Amino acid sequence: MASQLESTTAPVYTLAEGQPQANPGASYSLNKSGGRGGLILLQDTQLIETLAHFARERIPERVVHAQAAGARGFFEVTHDISDLTSAAFLSKVGTKTPALARISTVGGERGSSDTVRDVRGWAIKLFTTEGNQDWVFNHIPVFFVRDPIKFPSLNRSHKRHPQTNLPDSTMFWDFHNNNQEGIHALMHLFSDRGTPSSLRGTNAFSGHTYKFTKEDGSFVYVKIILKTDQGIKTFSSEKATKMSGVNPNHNLQDLLEAISKGDFPSWTVYVQAMTAEQAEKYRWNIFDMTKVWPHADFPLRQFGKLTLDKIPQNYFAEIEQAAFSPSNMVPGIEPSADPMLQARMFSYPDAARYRLGANYQQLPTNAALSPVYSPFQRDGFANFKGNYGPDPNYVGSTLRTLRYKGGQTSHDEWVGKIADYSSEIVDDDFAQATALWEVFGKHPGQQKAFVSNVAENLKPALPEVQKETIKMFTRVSVDLARLLEEAVKA
Ligand code: NDP
Repeated sequence: MASQLESTTAPVYTLAEGQPQANPGASYSLNKSGGRGGLILLQDTQLIETLAHFARERIPERVVHAQAAGARGFFEVTHDISDLTSAAFLSKVGTKTPALARISTVGGERGSSDTVRDVRGWAIKLFTTEGNQDWVFNHIPVFFVRDPIKFPSLNRSHKRHPQTNLPDSTMFWDFHNNNQEGIHALMHLFSDRGTPSSLRGTNAFSGHTYKFTKEDGSFVYVKIILKTDQGIKTFSSEKATKMSGVNPNHNLQDLLEAISKGDFPSWTVYVQAMTAEQAEKYRWNIFDMTKVWPHADFPLRQFGKLTLDKIPQNYFAEIEQAAFSPSNMVPGIEPSADPMLQARMFSYPDAARYRLGANYQQLPTNAALSPVYSPFQRDGFANFKGNYGPDPNYVGSTLRTLRYKGGQTSHDEWVGKIADYSSEIVDDDFAQATALWEVFGKHPGQQKAFVSNVAENLKPALPEVQKETIKMFTRVSVDLARLLEEAVKA
């Protein structure tokens, strides 16, 4: 290869520590006359560095949400909600906050098809003036379990069988037959919205209840909802399956192509708000993420818009290394007592520490754009930001004093006994699933598609498991169960 040093614009090729190197395509070897090389030398740092780094290119993939698409953009406040929260980034109409979004399937491994029937994870990092606010949402409004101890079991049942390493309908439905609090989420998963034909055409829901707080100590419980401005876009089950073979990256490609040609997708952002007094009297436990708050009871209030207008320059650096957590909350937003939320606030950063190391917050894609001074988190693998130099690494020093905000305003008082607890399934757990079945009924073809989608998935399961699943659906609707039984037998 000819030297390219004459070029004024091309970068000068170097080794990883900056030493200019002759030819990135050559190795030190014993050369015979006539130009044939053999026997590589151990002194060839370029070759060793290249091979050794290649073997270390992969990092542990996420146990869930491994396959994703990502993009950058911004969140803009469109309506005043300063009566609900004192969060700085929400305090003024027109304020724009840079955002990073990562939209994923849940069960499939990295590289798996992105049109399969699955929940889409919707992770958004908002780089606010008071640190990062993460919204780690899903494209359906409810979840399959409400007791966090069941979370690993749920996910295993949706992935591969321990013996065959195949997805397994018997395992999937056996889990749900015996954990029927998931019925409402199953209704969402098996509608055609479970197979989006474009990520631009999906909604995103906080699922959990959070709190919006104000500096005066007041608060409301909230759920946050992003509704697509593109309209819902779905595949039929048949088309989704076909697309998995034709183009397993269909949804990733669709998002990137739209943004690249300037067709920027956007989502209108809403909040549902509830006072503590309303929460105490409400029909449903608001810390149960298998339930929505019906719109008639708690209407959607618009407050913002998310727009995605930039594709990442590098997938690994910006999307694979991105780490999101519901525990990333700015002043003005706080967690509720939802046990699933409390567990996720541990699990997400724990997964990031495992995948990316203890200093994952220093990676450029995760780093806050506002000032960070956190000198009691020191050292650790891959600490590349100066490590706070000589500053005290212990609390309380008078040698370098700190300013800090007052403690978090505390709103809840809890009294109770510590005991083993696992939620019971009651008839009311089926009421919202029934309501969704009725919503399907208002849209031609949706009930039929739902029955067919479940039947297709249930057919390979063992007969005794099929029977239990059909029985479970009778608690949603006797009609639905009958149609399902007929479809499974057909
Ligand atoms: P409404 O009767 O006021 O509105 C129906 C809701 O269902 C709309 O949000 C609509 O979303 C959504 N929807 C329509 N078709 C489908 C589908 N195939 N899959 C999933 N969602 C669909 O709702 P209610 O609040 O009275 O709740 C009734 C049922 O609607 C609930 O039991 C719940 O399952 C479902 N739902 C409720 C939501 C909530 O936060 N309250 C959110 C989403 C669904 P869109 O406008 O996008 O078409």
